[in-house]
Amino acid sequence: MKTSNKNVVERVDGIRGNYHAVRALEVALAGGHSIVFVGCADSEGDVLASIAMDAGAKGYFIMPCPCGHFGSRSIKCSCSPAKIMRYRSGKKVKSRTFDDIQIEVNVPRPRDYTDTQHGFKNAIIRIDKAKQFLPMVSGKLEPEPRRLLDRGIEALGFGPKTVDSVVSVSKTIAALDGSTETRSSHVAEAIQYKMFNRGELRT
Ligand SMILES: [Zn+2]
Repeated sequence: MKTSNKNVVERVDGIRGNYHAVRALEVALAGGHSIVFVGCADSEGDVLASIAMDAGAKGYFIMPCPCGHFGSRSIKCSCSPAKIMRYRSGKKVKSRTFDDIQIEVNVPRPRDYTDTQHGFKNAIIRIDKAKQFLPMVSGKLEPEPRRLLDRGIEALGFGPKTVDSVVSVSKTIAALDGSTETRSSHVAEAIQYKMFNRGELRT
């Protein structure tokens, strides 16, 4: 294993909880996708963003609202809905989430402080395999995954650029799965990564 990989593994394994965010990082690194971690100031979103950058991906960190606590389990957000809307449609957030970012993921403050990751080493192996496998994955969607994507377009208002991004991320997820076909489960996971600013900020 390369020294840089060892460093990445050690840093990811220090992240508390937030397995879904670490999985999103795995997808971003496998496909070279840009990723934004959305979390409050005391989440580890900034750490994950810096790991992504150091591992060669475009990684960003933003707060979900001006006070940083929207969706927090422990601290109440003090922002009005109008203030949150203004913040999210503002230049800093909008340019990062809508224009360039292929993966958006929430990083809540972990509930269990002793619960850390283990074994990102295996993820690095999966990432390397997926990179080689990716050119063999077909982006052509069969009727079932296609219907799922169409529902996303309709319900979440995906534009053409977002659709391209979802298909591209779906292919990476298929590659991680060792599948040459892009299936419904791959599309469903890719859609999960496009939920920020679409009415559902998941915590
Ligand atoms: Zn707030």
